[in-house]
Amino acid sequence: MRTWAEIDLDNLEYNIKKIKELSHDRDIMAIIKADAYGMGAVTIAKELSKMGVKIFGVSSLEEGIELRNNDIDDEILILAGIFNEELEEAEKKNLQVTLTDLSQIKYINEKGLSLKVHIKVDTGMGRVGFTVEEGKAAIDICKEKNIEVVGVYSHLSVSDESDEESISYTKKQLEKFRDFEKLEEIKYIHILNSGGILKFSEIPQSNLVRAGIIMYGVYGEGVIENLKRVFTLKSRILFLKELKEDIDISYGRVGKGYKNDLIATITVGYADGFRRELSNKGTIEIHGVPCKIVGKVCMDMLMVRIPDELKGRVKAGDEVTVMGEDIFDKSIMVGSSIYELFTGLSRRVSRVYL
Ligand code: PLP
Repeated sequence: MRTWAEIDLDNLEYNIKKIKELSHDRDIMAIIKADAYGMGAVTIAKELSKMGVKIFGVSSLEEGIELRNNDIDDEILILAGIFNEELEEAEKKNLQVTLTDLSQIKYINEKGLSLKVHIKVDTGMGRVGFTVEEGKAAIDICKEKNIEVVGVYSHLSVSDESDEESISYTKKQLEKFRDFEKLEEIKYIHILNSGGILKFSEIPQSNLVRAGIIMYGVYGEGVIENLKRVFTLKSRILFLKELKEDIDISYGRVGKGYKNDLIATITVGYADGFRRELSNKGTIEIHGVPCKIVGKVCMDMLMVRIPDELKGRVKAGDEVTVMGEDIFDKSIMVGSSIYELFTGLSRRVSRVYL
């Protein structure tokens, strides 16, 4: 294999137990949209199901169908909204849907669809959903029309930030959601995402948490203490070159000044999802030693300088760690987030479950 993602299922199981504790024993909905954040939704769902997780959140109808077609028969909620014309298919596949406006209720009623729905309330994300008042009315209308409301939920926008302003914004969101928590007839009341689980679980509210990136031991602010890292991106040394001439390295000739250096070519590139912004500044770990990327990251390869301490200890074929412990630092370097690095991993990266 050239490049592969190692996904440690023991660590995943450990994290699920911890998330249960951290969220004060609330039920867990595992958010496995975007192919379980790049980890492989079908395998991850099957493993999580064995670990006791019985409800999953996906982004779209297609993602839900993929799980159903792979014999996953647990509860599944489509989170990122749904178009009216998709509702019949959702019913057929027994997928729960998120309602964000009244036209959907009208459509479900007119078509006589038997769907389990969650009412989405926008308490401050500014994306989709009813206002608090509209949400309460939507629940009543559903009841009138015999539409089964199994959930009501909202989404936190800055729960992974620790500054005072963000904390106060999140608290306001929780406060706005408070009235829904009294609705005992609704099975699932949910608002906490990874940041929420870590920072706001002690506030009595909701009975289900939506755990996404936290399952992999990381979140917006980096590696989480007391959880275990699940994901490591690995690759290999393809070629070693002792640079004897004064030549520049890679496209655009930005890797300059490496005459007499030992340069290793690694079989990972931007087509694997390794970001080009890391050209000439990121590092790749070889035998535990960070080695600087020199020149531009190519589509299928990149080059690193082998430091003196590793000379004589590296050979073609050796395994290297492309992203591991340092994934948060890399996400900052590329001006993005761990979410984007995870979900940007391409199809040709093998997923290897340990
Ligand atoms: N809930 C909703 C509605 C989401 O869109 C997401 C992810 O973006 C999550 C939960 C999970 O978020 P996180 O991965 O931060 O736990």
